[in-house]
Amino acid sequence: MPRSSSDNPTARFSPELEDAILTVNAVAATSATGPLVRTTVERRDLGPRDILIEIRYAGICHSDIHTVRGEWGDVAYPLTVGHEIVGLVAEVGPEVSRHAVGDRVGVGCMVNSCRECANCRAGQEQYCENGNTGTYGSIDRDGTVTQGGYSTHIVVDEDFVLRVPESIPYEAAAPLLCAGITTYSPLAHWKAGPGRKVAVVGLGGLGHLAVKIAVAMGAEVTVLSQTLGKKDDGLAFGAQSYHATGDTATFEALRNSFDLIVNTVSAPIDIAAYLRLLRLDGTLVSVGAPPEPLPVPVFALFGNRRSFAGSSIGGIAETQEMLDFCAERGIAPEVEVIGADEVDEAYERVLRSDVRYRFVIDIDTLR
Ligand SMILES: [Zn+2]
Ligand SMILES: [Zn+2]
Repeated sequence: MPRSSSDNPTARFSPELEDAILTVNAVAATSATGPLVRTTVERRDLGPRDILIEIRYAGICHSDIHTVRGEWGDVAYPLTVGHEIVGLVAEVGPEVSRHAVGDRVGVGCMVNSCRECANCRAGQEQYCENGNTGTYGSIDRDGTVTQGGYSTHIVVDEDFVLRVPESIPYEAAAPLLCAGITTYSPLAHWKAGPGRKVAVVGLGGLGHLAVKIAVAMGAEVTVLSQTLGKKDDGLAFGAQSYHATGDTATFEALRNSFDLIVNTVSAPIDIAAYLRLLRLDGTLVSVGAPPEPLPVPVFALFGNRRSFAGSSIGGIAETQEMLDFCAERGIAPEVEVIGADEVDEAYERVLRSDVRYRFVIDIDTLR
């Protein structure tokens, strides 16, 4: 099967083929402090169940920034990050059955897992007991370090490639692959729905999707944000109320109110204050990841039999379910599309919370 785009009218680019290794354009970090640079990365030759994806858009996740800056551990530089990937199938291995050339597809935070442990067999590959293979910065089966989506192409096993429904705008589909599933999974697990009161802490990339998804699930949604600066947006996304956490009166007024609180903030928060907002059997689930441990006062858990929990992305089947749900319900993130040379500036803006609500890189600017 040819790698060229000649038999695929929607693919535009033929990657360079050298002895079966693909060398493709990418943006990479070369140190914890320097700017990202344009470079190339190598993609493995297609195995029988592999798919070559021509990437069109890649979202910028806060995790990308933590990772390249070495805040989550040692990094093997140079590293290309990006785990919110959408594109087109450019070529398939001979045993691929789930996707065909020309299909709109996506890749999220993982590209493999052991497939044999109890969690993998239960469709919870993100919790693989032997560790899932992250889309970037993980050791792949062949011993190389995985390289992410700020790149023109990627090769991924078909079982970790998602279908992206046509009705989701292409660039808006990218953030669903991490931010979307990260919020959908706990909302589904803790049964956000009619008659349930859900609070979303933080209205950023994750938070704005949490609001839209929880509203679509039928829950009554409240936004808890530091200030009222984004109140109009929060209400436009479907939230019924919006409160400033900078105002201590908020914590009195909303005591014992919620069945579920989804914390999307990656800075430390006062856990006890938020726990007291939960009513009987309520759960506070964190999807934001502050680097330091949080003190959890157990007495705040005793009252109302509350739980404090964490949640990490979602399994592959659930990620597909999320994409189909978003397509059906017309849910898409708010995105700002940038070029490949604007990523450093975008990182600074993410750190200042100066984005409404997710940056997405137009990968055509890398070709
Ligand atoms: Zn992410
Ligand atoms: Zn496993």
